[in-house]
Amino acid sequence: MAKIAINIATGSLQQAEMIVGIDLGTTNSLVAIIHPESKIPVALKEHDSSSLVPSIIHFDALGNPTVGEAARLFLETDPKNTIFSAKRLMGKSYKDIQENAGFFTYKVIDDDTESLVKVQVGNTFYSPVELSSLILKELKQRAEHILKTPVSKAVVTVPAYFNDAQRQATRDAGKLAGLDILRIVNEPTAASLAYGLGLHKDEEKTIAVYDLGGGTFDISILKITNGIFEVLSTNGNTYLGGDDIDRMIVQYWMQQSGISLEELKNNQELSQGLRLRAEEAKKYLSTHDAFEVNWNGDILALTREVFEGLIQSLIDQTIQCCSNALSDAKLTPSAIDTIVMVGGSTRVPAIKKAVSDFFGRPVNDSVNPDEVVALGAAIQADILAGNNKDFLLLDITPLSLGIETMGGLMDVLIPRNAKIPTKAGRQYTTHKDGQSDMRISVYQGERDLVKDNRKLAEFSLKGIPGMPAGLPKVEVSFLINADGILVVRAKELRSGVEQEIEVKSQYGLTDEEVEKMLLDSITHAKEDMQIRALVEARTEGEEILAVTEKFIAKNASLLTAEEITATASAMQALQLALTMEDKNLIHSKIEELNEVTRPFAERAMDVAVGEALRGRVI
Ligand code: AMP
Repeated sequence: MAKIAINIATGSLQQAEMIVGIDLGTTNSLVAIIHPESKIPVALKEHDSSSLVPSIIHFDALGNPTVGEAARLFLETDPKNTIFSAKRLMGKSYKDIQENAGFFTYKVIDDDTESLVKVQVGNTFYSPVELSSLILKELKQRAEHILKTPVSKAVVTVPAYFNDAQRQATRDAGKLAGLDILRIVNEPTAASLAYGLGLHKDEEKTIAVYDLGGGTFDISILKITNGIFEVLSTNGNTYLGGDDIDRMIVQYWMQQSGISLEELKNNQELSQGLRLRAEEAKKYLSTHDAFEVNWNGDILALTREVFEGLIQSLIDQTIQCCSNALSDAKLTPSAIDTIVMVGGSTRVPAIKKAVSDFFGRPVNDSVNPDEVVALGAAIQADILAGNNKDFLLLDITPLSLGIETMGGLMDVLIPRNAKIPTKAGRQYTTHKDGQSDMRISVYQGERDLVKDNRKLAEFSLKGIPGMPAGLPKVEVSFLINADGILVVRAKELRSGVEQEIEVKSQYGLTDEEVEKMLLDSITHAKEDMQIRALVEARTEGEEILAVTEKFIAKNASLLTAEEITATASAMQALQLALTMEDKNLIHSKIEELNEVTRPFAERAMDVAVGEALRGRVI
C-alpha cells in the first residue's frame, strides 16, 4: 500500500515520495520506477522519445552545460568541450588511465599523475564527480518532469568491479545533484533482479551476467543464496563494445570503396557519416539478413554473413573473458543456472548464439537490454521504500576488516563474507601510563600481520584523560552501511571522548587483488600463525617487564637485596629472550620472572590492602 502524507503547508494530500532507480551508464543513462498502479518496473521516457539519455555533457562558450541527446551532436563538431565516458574517470588518477589517455578527445589533466583526475574545459576544471552529477541532475529533472513530482531519492547502479573510491565518488555525485542515493547496487545484481532472480527466499542459483554496451564489456558470475547476491568473479574489457563493432564496419566499407585512412581523418563529414551508417547497418542486421543504403551516390552494403565474419574476433574475446571469469569462480559452464544479457550490443544474434553455445543453454533476453539494469534498480528502490517487506537485498564483504593491535597484529572485527549492512565492536585499552592518544589503523585482508594486509585508514583518538595503562576503555566499532562504506568509531567510555571516520580509500581493490590476498592468507597460514604466536608472546613479555619495573620502583623498600638482584636477572633473561625468535623461550622466561616476583608481589599486596584498610590513598 502506498503511503499517504499530508502537506502541512497546503493541507493537501500527497503521496509519499517515490524512490527512483538510476542506471548511470558509460554511454547511456536512464531512470526507472515501479509503476504505482501496475506495480511493473518501467523506464521513464518523454512521449515517444527514447528512455536512454546519452551520458554526454557539452559546455558552451560560457561554460553552461547541456546533457544528453543535445550534447551528443557536439561530439564531432566540438570535441574539446564535449565530455563523454566520464564514468571511466570516476575515482581514477591520471596514472590509472594513462594507457588509454588517447581515448579521450577532451583534456584530462595530467600534471599530478597520482591524485584524482580532473577534466579541463576552457579555463574551468571539473572532477569526474561533478561531471557525473550533471548527468544525474539531468536525469532527476527529467524524472520530475515526467512524474510531475519532486524526486530526491534514488538507487544507483555501478559495475560490480567498482572499488570503494568509485562507489563513494558515485554517491558524492548524487549528493551534488541533490539526490540522496539510498543504495548503490551492482549492475549485474540489478539486471538479475529485473529477471526476478533472487526475489524468492530459499532460492539458490548461479548466474552469469553478460554485459556488452557501447564501450565496455563485462561478465559477472553471481551466486544468489537466500536473497544474498555474492559476486564470485568478474572479467571483461573496459574498452570493448558496440563502438568497436561500428568501427569494424567503417573499416570494411573503406576497404570496399578504397577510402584511405588519411581521407577519413581529414573529412569529418565523411567519418561521421560512415560511422552513423555503420551503426544503422549493425542495428538493422540484428533483425534482417542484408543492409544496403545509397549514401551520396555510393552504395554501402553489408550482409549478415559478412558482418558476423567481421566481428568474430570481438565475440571470441568476450567468450574468452567468460571462460576466465568461470575459472576464477572455479566453475564450469554447466554450473551456471541462468544467463542474463545486458547492453544494447547483446541484440546482435551472433553474440547471443555464441554466449548460449558457450554456456550450453539459452540466454535470458526478454527484457530490453538497454533498460534491464535501471529496471532492476527500480525494483531495489521499491524494496527500500518498504513496498516489498519480505525481501531484503544483502551483499557481503569480500575481505575481513580489522585494526592493528600491539606488535603489528591484525585484529579482525568484521570477518570476510559477513552480510552487510553489519556492525561490530570491541574494547581496547592503552599500554602506556598517561597515554592520551590512541592510534587506530584500519586494515583489510586475511593475514595475521597488518603489514601483509591493506591499510584503509588511520586516525587518532585524542584527548584520553591521563590514566594508568590498561584503565581506559576504548570501544572501537565498525559499521558497514548498505553500500559497503565503512564507518569506524572509537570512543573512550570513561571520559566519553570520541572520534569517527568514514573510510574512503583512495584506491580500492580489483577482484584479482582480493583473490591474491585470499590466496596469500591460505599459503601463509602456518607461518602467519607462528608469527602471531611470537608477536603475542613478545607483547606479553614487554608488558610484564614494564609492570615489574614500575612495581620495583614503587616498592623497593619492601624487597630484600637478593630479591632485587634475582628480579633484575630474570628481567634481563626475559629481555634477551624477546630479541630471539622463540616464543617458547619467551614464555619460559616470563614464567621464571613470575616465579621470582610472586612472593614479594603478594607481600606488597598485603601491605597495600592493609594501607587501604587504614584509609590511606594508594
Ligand atoms: P548501452 O551502452 O547498453 O546503451 O549499449 C549501446 C550499444 O548498443 C551501442 O553500441 C548501440 O549501437 C548498440 N545497439 C543498440 N541497439 C542495437 C541493435 N539492435 N543491434 C546491435 N547493437 C545495438
